[in-house]
Amino acid sequence: MSASLAIPSRGVVRRLSSEEASRRDLTQGPTVVVPPKHLMAKSDAHEVAESMEIARHELDEMRSAQTTPESVAESIVTDKFAFAFDIDGVLIRGGKVIPAAVEAMKMLNGENDYGIKVPYIFVTNGGGKTEQERCLQLSQQLEMEVSPGQFICGHTPMREMAERYKTVLVVGGEGEKCRHVAEGYGFKDVVTPGDIIKDNKDTTPFRKLTDEEYKNSRARNFAEVEIEAIFVFADSRDWASDQQIILDLLMSKNGRLGTRSENFDEGPPVFFSHNDMVWSTSHDLTRIGMGALRVSLEAMYKAVTGKDLQTTAFGKPQIGTFEFATRLLQQWRKDTHGINCPPDTVYFVGDTPESDIRGTNEFNQHAENTWYSILVRTGVFQAGTTPRFAPKATVDNVLDAVKHGMEREYRRLLKEKVLSATAVEDDIIE
Ligand SMILES: [Mg+2]
Repeated sequence: MSASLAIPSRGVVRRLSSEEASRRDLTQGPTVVVPPKHLMAKSDAHEVAESMEIARHELDEMRSAQTTPESVAESIVTDKFAFAFDIDGVLIRGGKVIPAAVEAMKMLNGENDYGIKVPYIFVTNGGGKTEQERCLQLSQQLEMEVSPGQFICGHTPMREMAERYKTVLVVGGEGEKCRHVAEGYGFKDVVTPGDIIKDNKDTTPFRKLTDEEYKNSRARNFAEVEIEAIFVFADSRDWASDQQIILDLLMSKNGRLGTRSENFDEGPPVFFSHNDMVWSTSHDLTRIGMGALRVSLEAMYKAVTGKDLQTTAFGKPQIGTFEFATRLLQQWRKDTHGINCPPDTVYFVGDTPESDIRGTNEFNQHAENTWYSILVRTGVFQAGTTPRFAPKATVDNVLDAVKHGMEREYRRLLKEKVLSATAVEDDIIE
């Protein structure tokens, strides 16, 4: 069931009296911004209090109209706003769930003072597993169901490159997982560094394949193979050998191993699933990530060839990822909640100023709706420092981020009601 948070205007006038006002009204009520016109007018505290009470009353009526005694647990779904979450450092850290995350999800699923459910998606730069596998894991960690239709990881947009390139090298991740992800995306011929080392063990002088790696790697003659593109799907487990192989290909003639281009301008393009320099793990300090590998590779290429290397990174903060997220959110809200319009506001919660906050802020300038960045202190960003990209709000954890967004929406709605109620009164007076 879907419904708007916007409430139809009614001709009900009910004065707030000291007898009716609860302690909650007095101590936990929202902040109401009063327009200058009313600040300058002769003081009439009743007017504002009355408008607020009308708004609050109408909200209550809306809730009770939507909640029947038989289905108390049933909540309405707002079409006005939505949430998008980064995962590492926001919901999960070092493989363990951040406790506030479970509470935050419950709150979005209807356990809140407003009696509403709020749609949400997950946008992570991480990867190395299929979207289905990662969703299953996240479902167990967050104690609720997460669907692949709510989920974007760093390499998800690479799906759209499967038609363009036939034979590709896929780098990073555990074992054969990234090969399977790439094949699942529709890539026709996926090569791994293991296949290349199996064909010629002298490729990487200090790395020997384990028995299992040797068994899983595919036998083929790379003297006859042209690799058309290189995709770094997930973090490299062995920088030295992976960089050696990527460098060999970049300096080759048309991606054929064992050859050397004279001008170093015939190699395949390189794509990274994201550009995060560091990420948050169970270690107290941040660890280097894929963005560091990218910088390293570009510097090495320059040192060896004297030329600049142009590479491409997907993921946050790239606009393309946020466009992808917009499409996903639209589809998710349509499929599950029957809502067929974009939300007015998307609250994006992340821990990395350089990807989450920067991306959200920049996308906000392009998007037709509002993308509102919220930074948490449970991951890369640490309290006491100044983020390189300023968020709209900074909070301790993801539960506070959800509360912040929902309270902001509630205040906004109250303000709208107050303004429309006072406008009606002005019309009557005139
Ligand atoms: Mg993160």
